[in-house]
Amino acid sequence: MIKVLEKQVSDKIAAGEVVERPLSVVKELIENAIDSGADSIICEIKQGGKLSIRVTDNGCGISAEEVETAFLRHATSKITTANDLNSLETLGFRGEALASIAAVSRVELLTKTTEEKVGTSLIIHGGETVQKKQTGCPDGTTIIVNDLFYNTPARLKFLKSDGAESNQIIDFMSQIALCYINIKFRLISNGQIVFSTNGKGDRLSTIASIYSNIDIKNLVNIHEENGGISIDGYISTPVMSRPTRNMQIFFVNGRVIESKIIEKGIKKGYKERLFEGRHPITFIFLDIPANTLDVNIHPNKRQVRFDQDDRIVEIVEKSIINALSTKDSVVRMADSVKTKIEEIPTFHFEEKQDEIDIKKLLSTDSDHAIFEEEKIDFQEAAKVSPNCCIELKESFEKPFRFDELNYLGTIFNTYILAQDNNTFYMFDQHACHERINYEKFVNQYNNEVKFKQPIMVPFIVNTSFETNITDNWVSVLDNIGFTLEEFGFNVFRITEIPTFMSIQEAQSFIDDFLDNLKEDIYMANTVVIDKLIMKSCKASIKANDKINMEEIKGLMDQLSKCVNPFSCPHGRPTFVKMTKYEIEKIFKRV
Ligand code: ADP
Ligand code: MG
Repeated sequence: MIKVLEKQVSDKIAAGEVVERPLSVVKELIENAIDSGADSIICEIKQGGKLSIRVTDNGCGISAEEVETAFLRHATSKITTANDLNSLETLGFRGEALASIAAVSRVELLTKTTEEKVGTSLIIHGGETVQKKQTGCPDGTTIIVNDLFYNTPARLKFLKSDGAESNQIIDFMSQIALCYINIKFRLISNGQIVFSTNGKGDRLSTIASIYSNIDIKNLVNIHEENGGISIDGYISTPVMSRPTRNMQIFFVNGRVIESKIIEKGIKKGYKERLFEGRHPITFIFLDIPANTLDVNIHPNKRQVRFDQDDRIVEIVEKSIINALSTKDSVVRMADSVKTKIEEIPTFHFEEKQDEIDIKKLLSTDSDHAIFEEEKIDFQEAAKVSPNCCIELKESFEKPFRFDELNYLGTIFNTYILAQDNNTFYMFDQHACHERINYEKFVNQYNNEVKFKQPIMVPFIVNTSFETNITDNWVSVLDNIGFTLEEFGFNVFRITEIPTFMSIQEAQSFIDDFLDNLKEDIYMANTVVIDKLIMKSCKASIKANDKINMEEIKGLMDQLSKCVNPFSCPHGRPTFVKMTKYEIEKIFKRV
């Protein structure tokens, strides 16, 4: 027998599609609050949203005669005709959220428009109105969702732990607060403030109030515009990195997305400034013409397809390279000490533990005392932000100027000292040299013309593997400036070396090159070749070489011409800085 389902049954089925877990409820309620024009939104959850979710806004409110309509399926104030779909300016438009949420929970609505003298309260249990009455309340809307899925036990069973559910909500709220920087957001979990933003439209201080574990002193602004695409945001300098990409957040046209394309741009732009396996923290906001973007390739809308991947990669890469070539991104002496510690593997573990712990604490209310400490941190973070902002803006987009440096000499036969107007610098002679040679090798490899010099007394090398002159590694060496001749079984004679090397340098380079080569003598791919050059470069330069002023200037001149003068090919900094202000602080002059 075929029959039309009762409203209650069909509502429950439909609700299943919209409301999957507490996060879905939060998402719908927050989007409604944003659509209402509110500039202050508070979200409060208990037990990961399972026990209750309350969202309060100071937006337009719903008038007394419309409160029940709002809970009907396909009831919306946001569109009237199908045509309106083409010019949507709101986040919602299906008119399904409130109906769906109400069908699977106990909902209480408190709302008042500015025109009304009194507000309305409406209570709905499992889709049925239980009570409607007038009530005193401020302008705006509060929706409380209690006992989610109380009447759909199957759904309830699928929920994760309170901690896991609230983590999802914290992530979502963080991202939405980052996106809508003109709205004040506050998130409360089990009675404790997770974060609150000031809604003053400043992205950096918003980041500081949401992510208390990020030192915003180590973030630099990125900004680039090209042919209708614009990119804006913040990335961490090399002193602040993470073992995963979890802290790389991307928005495209105001929506959070995941994107391998943007990750590729970050990787290219950041190249060599970090050790393998470390990732910068990034907050990237891309704005691109809507018609060059497909957001409907995945139901969760987290994946998008760009018309021109290459252009996206390029603009991301370029914005990062520009930002990292400013004085701001030179490693601070104090921070560089910290980086060293960070590179010890066990630290990563602790760092991760830390993140999990904080969130767990927030969501389970297990330890009050520690949470209090966290709260102080949020406030602290918010306090420092305005200053940092000014500091960053001041020097924004000014590329680092080598020609403004004044060289003072060296210490320990290894470190070159220099200063400009208000900053003191220390260069690692060895790392600088390594960077210079590395770029020369790579250029030589890519260039048609090779700069080789014949040597008076050719040197002999013995390979530890079976090979002959036609093997690939010989032509790679030839390409970077060495001429090899066969000189017996697995023995070769080097008759020419690159012009920029001394014989000793060339010898240790070749030794290391052959060592690193091992069995992979056919290396066909450029990544392998690049790595090999990178590794072998290191051996070619000795520290503890006393150099005079003339040589310092020569070295610095070459460094300044490098594509990336800021770090050696392995990701170590070539130089660090300490500002006059920092020095004055050490001596308690300020
Ligand atoms: P949609 O957002 O797709 O329109 P919803 O079911 O989420 O559908 O909401 C239905 C209607 O209820 C909205 O169109 C809006 O008019 C009203 N509404 C919901 N939440 C709020 C709010 N926080 N403030 C003002 N009006 C609201
Ligand atoms: Mg909605």
